[in-house]
Amino acid sequence: MNGMIKTLLLSFMVITACKEPAAPTVANGIFPKGEAGPAANFTGKAWNTGLVAADSTYSTLVGNVYFEPGARSNWHIHPAGQILIITDGVGYHQLEGQPRQTIRKGDVVKCPPNILHWHGASADTGMQQMYIVPNVEKGIVDWKEPVTDSVYNNKN
Ligand code: MN
Repeated sequence: MNGMIKTLLLSFMVITACKEPAAPTVANGIFPKGEAGPAANFTGKAWNTGLVAADSTYSTLVGNVYFEPGARSNWHIHPAGQILIITDGVGYHQLEGQPRQTIRKGDVVKCPPNILHWHGASADTGMQQMYIVPNVEKGIVDWKEPVTDSVYNNKN
């Protein structure tokens, strides 16, 4: 009887261990966390840290943003476009008039010049992205209206 109880207990422990995968972790420690983006331009918390300041040699702006779950940018354009390199987590990216896309660690996203778009975390998992804005003499970003819950949740 004792042996059976031990076997049952062990089985339970093994099953329990297998059914509880580690919570998804989103690296937020590669770069400094930075500053929270202004509420006027973001829904939820998005933390930005600059990595390369644009200057006359590079004319390129590089930085890192960590979006907490549910957080996203407003709709916006980049006059010279933008490249996003997703370094952790799961998020969404949407160009105006096109379906929302799910983006994950390792994805590279191009936002063409002057195309209205938004990006952010998924509802359940944060998303970390490195952004590269080239040719900043053309402009960096032009902020528009917030992304509604309906658009964010892909229900339109
Ligand atoms: Mn953008």
